Amino acid sequence: TVGIIAMDQLQNICVGTSTSGLFMKRQGRVGDSPIIGSGFYADSNIGAATATGLGEDLMKGCTSYEVVRKMRDGMSPQQAADATLNELELTLYERYGKAGDLSVVCMNKNGNVGVSTNIDNFSFVIATEAIPATVYLANKEN
Ligand code: ASP
Repeated sequence: TVGIIAMDQLQNICVGTSTSGLFMKRQGRVGDSPIIGSGFYADSNIGAATATGLGEDLMKGCTSYEVVRKMRDGMSPQQAADATLNELELTLYERYGKAGDLSVVCMNKNGNVGVSTNIDNFSFVIATEAIPATVYLANKEN
C-alpha cells in the first residue's frame, strides 16, 4: 500500500491510499485500504493518518480513525501512532495469539509527523516546501 497525506497552504488536509492488496488474496477480498477510518482518515481541524500492513488486523482497530482521534484528544502524532499500534497489537495477541504487519503514518494540522510500525525498515518519505523529499526508515520498538 502507498498512503499519502498532503496539506495545502490553507491547512486543508487530504489523504489517499493505493494498494494491490495482499499477495495471493482471495477473489473479492477487500482490505483496509479503501475503507474510511481503517486505511485512511483525514480531518483538517486535527490531522490525518494512513495505515498499511495486514488489512484484516488493521480493520479490527479502525486504525487510521483511532490515530486521528488520539491526536484530537491531545496526543502528538508520534504518541498517537505508537499508542494506537501498541494497543492494537496487544489486543490482537490477546485475542488471536498473533498480529500481522502493522504500520501507520500520520500528520497533524501543524505539519508534525508520526510513524509507528511493528516491522523492520518501514520506509516513508517526508517532503515540505523547504525540504525536498527525503526517505526515512522506521523500525519496530524493542
Ligand atoms: N493493507 C493492504 C491490505 O490488507 C495491504 C498492504 O498494505 O500492503 O489489503
